[in-house]
Amino acid sequence: MFEVCGYAAKSAGSRLEPFSFHRRNPGDNDVVIDIAYCGICHSDVHQVRDEWGGAAFPMVPGHEIAGRVSRIGKEVVKFKVGDAAGVGCLVDSCRKCSSCHAHLEQHCEGRISFTYNSTEQDGKTPTYGGYSSQIVVDEAFALKIKAGEPLEAAAPLLCAGITTYSPLKRFGARPGSRVGIVGLGGLGHMAVKIAAALGAEVFVLSGSKSKQAGAKRLGAHEFILTSDAAKMQALAGRLNLIVDTVSAKHDLNACLNLLSLEGTLALVGASPQPLEFGTLPLITGRRFIAGSLIGGIAETQEMLDFCAAKKIRADVETIAMTDVNAAYARLLKGDVRYRFSIDMKTL
Ligand code: NAP
Ligand code: ZN
Repeated sequence: MFEVCGYAAKSAGSRLEPFSFHRRNPGDNDVVIDIAYCGICHSDVHQVRDEWGGAAFPMVPGHEIAGRVSRIGKEVVKFKVGDAAGVGCLVDSCRKCSSCHAHLEQHCEGRISFTYNSTEQDGKTPTYGGYSSQIVVDEAFALKIKAGEPLEAAAPLLCAGITTYSPLKRFGARPGSRVGIVGLGGLGHMAVKIAAALGAEVFVLSGSKSKQAGAKRLGAHEFILTSDAAKMQALAGRLNLIVDTVSAKHDLNACLNLLSLEGTLALVGASPQPLEFGTLPLITGRRFIAGSLIGGIAETQEMLDFCAAKKIRADVETIAMTDVNAAYARLLKGDVRYRFSIDMKTL
């Protein structure tokens, strides 16, 4: 075991404070990553505030991790010391069930080890996330980041990138398709960039007028203020796919009406409150409502390679670790363009 410093919440909704803990010494298949940057996902805020239930404390959040490999176990083949590497929402899974065999480790039917607020495969040892100086992970759950990629902007791809790439690919964002992105936050801005790079025509559906100019720069063809009834009506029935990234309760019927015949509303935003929708907008258009959870390890690597090839990076505001509590408050107000990335040098 070796000592690591980080920031933790000690109880639900408390401020994040300095916290020291231990990580295992690297086993034969493990890599030690010196964390350079960690993104702040809205899921971190939901979990620190225990909005989904079942949170365990102390909690060291952070699942958008980018850094450099500083030690490797003797069986490691994918990495060498000095390589750039990333860790997303998963650090292990049972590796035996049908989901794991299908490269859907995020749906492991055995025991899933999330990067924090979870346990290792022993079911006992708590996992601690990326708001910390180092992480130890089996190389099978570490991702390769292309040499030269700016790590502060690569970190958010490990959650915001894969969470939007996966449903965009699965539900057909491609040349000739019209894709709506609801909510222009951390996930939403990645969704716009990735959907545009996949060749789709992209429509941003936002509640914030102040985000209009930024949306075009990200690659959106059109920005629609969701409160603009005339614009929403003009778009009715035209979108083939909508990826909804909103973090709180909101009106799904408004989105459903925008879908074409057999269009799909893919929910990735994880509102703690249940969402409501009418049956008629669903039935009359033979429409689908789907959910999507991050992505498997292989798909995450595919996304990182795609983003590196297309030069897609997150737009980040880099902050010091001591600014994390202020950053949470700003995130809740929508005051970030579009992702906070914590510089671990400041720990
Ligand atoms: P974020 O940066 O806070 O962005 C969320 C956006 O939703 C905001 O920028 C805002 O966009 C909109 N919004 C917020 N509150 C709203 C409200 N009350 N009504 C309508 N719109 C509202 O959050 P994020 O990090 O992108 O995460 C978004 C959600 O995805 C969170 O719930 C998070 O837990 C979840 N998530 C899910 C997965 C998964 O695997 N499914 C993975 C990661 C995160 P506008 O200002 O443009 O309206
Ligand atoms: Zn996340």
